[in-house]
Amino acid sequence: MNTTFENDLSAKGYIDVAIDPSIDLVAEINRLKKEKNAVILAHYYQESEIQDLADYIGDSLGLSQQAAKTDADVIVFAGVHFMAETAKILSPSKKVLLPDLKAGCSLSDSCPPHLFAKFKEKYPDHLVITYVNCTAELKALSDIVCTSSNAVQIVESLPADQKIIFGPDRNLGAYVQKKTGRDLVLWNGACMVHEIFSQEKLDALRLEYPHAKFIAHPECEDHILAQADYIGSTSGMLKFTIEDPTDTYIVATESGILHQMQKSSPNKTFIPAPPNNLCACNDCPHMKLNTLEKLYNCLYFEQPEIVLPADIIARAQKPIERMLDISAKLGL
Ligand code: SF4
Repeated sequence: MNTTFENDLSAKGYIDVAIDPSIDLVAEINRLKKEKNAVILAHYYQESEIQDLADYIGDSLGLSQQAAKTDADVIVFAGVHFMAETAKILSPSKKVLLPDLKAGCSLSDSCPPHLFAKFKEKYPDHLVITYVNCTAELKALSDIVCTSSNAVQIVESLPADQKIIFGPDRNLGAYVQKKTGRDLVLWNGACMVHEIFSQEKLDALRLEYPHAKFIAHPECEDHILAQADYIGSTSGMLKFTIEDPTDTYIVATESGILHQMQKSSPNKTFIPAPPNNLCACNDCPHMKLNTLEKLYNCLYFEQPEIVLPADIIARAQKPIERMLDISAKLGL
């Protein structure tokens, strides 16, 4: 690998090479994709221009399923670091690229594996279920991984007397606890994006749009979820807005999902739930680190690449495969 890139990658997290301004970036990315037999997987929280050129757009469960079955040689993951790691765990022989290595996740960061390992030691007879939004190392410490689409069903699939630790998201854990009536031991982690919604601004918005339905992601805090007409994963929320007859929705999750909602239902109105700051909508700063330019350079130079130790891959595969098996059996 070129030494300059090594320096750039450690300092910046992405390939910072000037791009000829006269090229059509979208056309070039599509050409490189064919030439390298690459596939672009994008999360719903990516910028709309990245979503529009992705081969597959989805939430964590859908993206994991795609990563497990792709026959491409190269996977470019337009998302955050733990998602690209999940793709590498499921497709270890493929080259997995992430446009910006610094695209992290506050929720994943809220659960350092060495501290979780000590926490786990306190509950030796508990099964460990971790939300997919965590590091590969944390997955390697888990028995089953879940996503926000299947967390409730995965807990329900276990015997009623099975003791369970749930991490790292305390809000999703509390939601699962409420839905299943199970007593879970929760790790105290959270996502900065889903804990920033302003009750006051939300109240004002609901008065302004009294007929709008309020839909929320289960990573939101309990007092926000308590008011929701629908609670679900990003793909669940998207499906709900397509099938439901209402014409206006206030959406409490990362605002990137509004692009697909608007594309799927062009005659409906989607309003992002307001955060507790000066912004009008709620962006994940980690997700938004990926840009078309970084994506182009990443595909062109095939860097930055996700590399994981073989033993972590082997140990992290089991809980993810267990999740995929349970989800397939339940038809999720
Ligand atoms: S929205 Fe929250 S959970 Fe998702 S990547 Fe951003 S910080 Fe992590």
